[in-house]
Amino acid sequence: MWKNALKFRLFLLVIACLAMSGAPAWAKPEVSAARIGETPERTRFVLELSEDLPYRVFTLPDPFRVVLDLPEVTWNLPGGQQPQPGGLFSALRFGLFAPGTSRVVLDVTRPVLLQKVFVIPPRDGKPHRLVIDVEAATREQYFSAESNAMGEAMLSDEPLKPLAEAVPALPPAKPSDRRPMVVVDPGHGGVDPGAVGVSGTYEKNLTLDYGRALKAALEATGRYRVAMTRERDVFLKLRERIRAAQQVEGDLFISLHANVHNSGSIRGASVYTLSETASDAETAALAASENAADVLAGVNLTDQTGDVRNILIDLAQRETMNLSKKFANDLVREVGRETELLRNTHRFAGFAVLKSPVVPSILFEIGYLSNRQEERLLLSAAHRDKIIKSIIRATDEYFERQRAASRT
Ligand SMILES: [Zn+2]
Repeated sequence: MWKNALKFRLFLLVIACLAMSGAPAWAKPEVSAARIGETPERTRFVLELSEDLPYRVFTLPDPFRVVLDLPEVTWNLPGGQQPQPGGLFSALRFGLFAPGTSRVVLDVTRPVLLQKVFVIPPRDGKPHRLVIDVEAATREQYFSAESNAMGEAMLSDEPLKPLAEAVPALPPAKPSDRRPMVVVDPGHGGVDPGAVGVSGTYEKNLTLDYGRALKAALEATGRYRVAMTRERDVFLKLRERIRAAQQVEGDLFISLHANVHNSGSIRGASVYTLSETASDAETAALAASENAADVLAGVNLTDQTGDVRNILIDLAQRETMNLSKKFANDLVREVGRETELLRNTHRFAGFAVLKSPVVPSILFEIGYLSNRQEERLLLSAAHRDKIIKSIIRATDEYFERQRAASRT
């Protein structure tokens, strides 16, 4: 009898806990709404959360933006709709930044200062609300004594654990297995959607879809080992992608992307290898936009210039560049049998992701999401299979020639 009473009390306690937290303890916290509001004094960003979460808010300059980090959350916005930008906020992106950390990036129209960051506890049927108030500032105010270039971080009482390095889990290299290691790199991811198509296709989703299909097809041949830089919707720094390829001692690095152009009539696939000076203005602009991924996601790039410069002067780079060009030629020929190509299909550009001094690397722009017909084509499984098969043929030709060369 006494035992039963205790059990009943425990049962009530469990019910009470569930009711208080609003969600079972094992579920990921949820973002159920996001909105932007403005008054003459400030612009306010509000996030509705299923529970009180630790957070970190800071600003970054050039381009100016506000960054919010939270533990990994589920985005459950009504109808999947993002809030309308307004006031000082011109755009908003969110997604997984690193395992365990979700990030919101708010682009601002001018320098801003964080005015207040606070949480309103549940009230009047509303859940926890995280509020970020920003006010307009001049460049001078922004860079003034009290707010340094990174902006002053505003933390909750319970600080976030340090950001986990988003190094992907890759299979350990087996020295006994002599098959070539191909590294597949789906472009963009997480907080960085990449290009957005005419009907709303995200480049990051398309590249992951093609990446997974390519991995499966390469493995099915039995001739290759395959690693992916990312296997889910997560943000990776460009340098981490290179590092991942070097960690597994990759023999070939294939970065998958899709392009957009102001003119909706432009279409066709193209293949890029590294050049220290881009071949034309358009290619340079594309490289700048692909390289901007890290900047857009709020990563501080200041320590990167030195590394890149060091890598560029490495003599090993020459041989790697030649091999990259050979694979690019194979790929252009094979892809050209299956789909329309952009004129001057093989191009040279200063993509940061191609700067590995030891792993031959190419960047494949599968097509244009800004062209309505091509966007539809890229989304079709039949077209994807054709493209994947052509990459497999090019890979076979490339390694067959390498083997032949090493025999002579
Ligand atoms: Zn891209």
